[in-house]
Amino acid sequence: MNDSTSVSRRGFLASAARTSAICATGTYAASELTALARAAAQNATDAKQQPAASPAQNKKALIAITLDLEMARNFPNWEDTHWDYEKGNLNEAAKAYAVDVCGRVKAHGGVAHTFVVGRVFEQENVDWLKGIANDGHSIGNHTYDHVNVMAKRPKEVQLRFGRAPWLIEGKTAQEAIRENISMTSRALKQRVGVDVKGFRTPGGFPNGLGDRPDVQQLLLGLGFKWASAKYPAFEGIRDLHGTSDWPSDEVYRNIVAAQVRAQPFVYPSGLIDIPMSPISDLNAFRLGRWQLPYFLKAIKLAVSWAIENGAVYDFLLHPSCLGVIDPKCETVELICDLVAQAKERAAIVDLETIAASVRTEQAAKAS
Ligand SMILES: [Zn+2]
Repeated sequence: MNDSTSVSRRGFLASAARTSAICATGTYAASELTALARAAAQNATDAKQQPAASPAQNKKALIAITLDLEMARNFPNWEDTHWDYEKGNLNEAAKAYAVDVCGRVKAHGGVAHTFVVGRVFEQENVDWLKGIANDGHSIGNHTYDHVNVMAKRPKEVQLRFGRAPWLIEGKTAQEAIRENISMTSRALKQRVGVDVKGFRTPGGFPNGLGDRPDVQQLLLGLGFKWASAKYPAFEGIRDLHGTSDWPSDEVYRNIVAAQVRAQPFVYPSGLIDIPMSPISDLNAFRLGRWQLPYFLKAIKLAVSWAIENGAVYDFLLHPSCLGVIDPKCETVELICDLVAQAKERAAIVDLETIAASVRTEQAAKAS
């Protein structure tokens, strides 16, 4: 992809901000744009999706701190784009930040949930991830190459395979996607010695996997009981680069309002979705070009809403992005402090715990 393409794509993404691209942004070309456009159209149906349980004031808020372990275009330098072809090839800074975040969460009595891009297991040393696992944090699957699980044609699966199609030659898109996911679980087991805990789709989708029962079945067939796929759409993000403007009051209101649509739910297939809660770091710092104080305000408002309503909040960070903007981990410390102040009304948990609570609520409803 040449630079002019990426600039025009960025323009598109800014105008399509309400479709809220997350980590997939910059990973796919035309297919992603189609997906984003489709996702925007589906936003109307999004509001009809009911959470598994309505937030209730007497419930304990379950707050997750999740880390997608991948490199991201535009970070650490805005002109960086080569990560699109090597998403899992983490640099030292991203690994160090992941370790730092997990250590801080543990110090506050919680556990973090990481999602690993399998190609990192080709690196010589994975002791940093073994340390994270040994400290009790969870490791989920984020595919081997950060593939587009919605792809229907092989060349849409990931940019790496557009450049090197022989890597998936002879496979359908679905076969390539299945192999990319299963290979990551095997690599995690072989190099870190732990079983995979859950799946997060590269990119988030306003309607989750609601329109793709085939993808739900693929994940269920690979043994996953839950996925984190939905990222609710919200209006109002605009590129603030070069200005001293704060995000509008309206966009903060929209982020808080989106939390109702970020509650866990169950697809008719039985697969649980634990959505990513707006606003993600890449959404804020790539699409909005926000400064850290703007982000801290949004996170405080959203987490406070979750605590007040006994709801779920699934904070999504990318060490390759947040580590550049927030090297002192102010965001993670803020979330941990809000949970500590809430005492017994909130806890920092992994997504396995949230999935278990969804199953318990389902069973209670059925009986
Ligand atoms: Zn990702």
